[in-house]
Amino acid sequence: MKLILATHNIHKVKELNNMLGFLNIEVLSLLDFPGIDGIEETGSTFAENAMIKAMHIYKRLKIPVISDDSGIEVAYLNKKPGIFSKRFAGKNATDKDRIDKLLYKMQDVPFQKRSAQFVCSMVYLNKNFQYTVSGYCNGFIAPVPKGKNGFGYDPVFYLPDIDKTMAQLDEPLKNMISHRANALKQINQIHSLGKYKK
Ligand code: IMP
Repeated sequence: MKLILATHNIHKVKELNNMLGFLNIEVLSLLDFPGIDGIEETGSTFAENAMIKAMHIYKRLKIPVISDDSGIEVAYLNKKPGIFSKRFAGKNATDKDRIDKLLYKMQDVPFQKRSAQFVCSMVYLNKNFQYTVSGYCNGFIAPVPKGKNGFGYDPVFYLPDIDKTMAQLDEPLKNMISHRANALKQINQIHSLGKYKK
């Protein structure tokens, strides 16, 4: 069985590949299909964007797809940047630019008001089924970035129970608790990807 991850994001590919590694499935991603460009995210929710990506890729490749649309919602910013997490600091911005902009907006905001959540809507689509699920991970926006692992907003996403930022976790731990892991667990429960166990 083959499965394609509808993303060009190498970090997501790595995380999802590790989470799916115990299965007897050939896991591909858009990095294996250089002819397929980035897919425009025209939806107004994470779930809509995930479905747009999944349908686009299934139509082109006819391989079962997992797509994810994810981002960070900050309570103090009325759940922004949300679906605009990637575009928060402009089109060609880096992770550092996005973090700098977020920290600037959160300047002087006290700890209790810095709560945030990572959200991941994930679609599994094949010729017979389609499921959309959402996974979450709760934390706070740290005052300064810490840690070198992960990607995106991980260095400023503080997890109070572990007393570390997401970027200070090693990858296996992130892959147990992240929004993406929580979404994938739900897909697995519904579709039982586990039946393809090695
Ligand atoms: P998209 O899902 O490719 O549209 O992009 C989601 C954006 O949200 C990424 O570019 C990151 O900035 C952010 N994001 C999504 N998941 C994570 C994560 O696990 N850690 C940190 N940032 C994330």
